[in-house]
Amino acid sequence: MPPVKTRLPAIEGWFTLDEDAPALLGSRCTTCGNFAFPKETFFCRNPECQGKEFAETELSRTGTIWSYTDARYQPPKPYEAADPYVPFAIAAVELRAERMVVMGQVVPGVGVDELTVGSEVELVLDTLYEDDDHEYLVWKWRPRSATTGGRADA
Ligand SMILES: [Zn+2]
Repeated sequence: MPPVKTRLPAIEGWFTLDEDAPALLGSRCTTCGNFAFPKETFFCRNPECQGKEFAETELSRTGTIWSYTDARYQPPKPYEAADPYVPFAIAAVELRAERMVVMGQVVPGVGVDELTVGSEVELVLDTLYEDDDHEYLVWKWRPRSATTGGRADA
C-alpha cells in the first residue's frame, strides 16, 4: 500500500476540509448582506453599498448548473491542473440562496454530455494534483444523480 499522503487545500482558505460536507468559504457584507466568492476584503461589490466589513461564511453546498464547458486546454489559475493535463468539464453553478455563480471543475468521469443546464450538483473535494507527500485538494461539482466519486446523501 502506498503511504498515506497529507491532504492540503490547493488554495488556502477557499473552502473547508470537511470530508463529508465540504463547503466553499465566501464572504458576506455586514452592511448589505451581499455574498462574494472568493472572499471580499476591501470593498463590497454591490455598487449601492459602502460596506467595508465582511464576515466569512460557508456557502451552499448544492446548486444548479447555469452553464458548462469542456476544458480541452489547460485553463489559467486558479485551475492548476494535473500533469499530464487531463481534459475535464467546468461548470458554472448557481447558488440559489446566495444568488451567485461559482465556477468549478466537474468530478472526473463526468463529461459535458452528461451535464444539463438546470440540473443539481453538489460540492465535493477531490485531488487536483499531488506530490510525493501531499495531495492538494480543490472543490469540484458532482451531479447529484451520479453514483460514483463519493458517498451518496444519507
Ligand atoms: Zn455591501
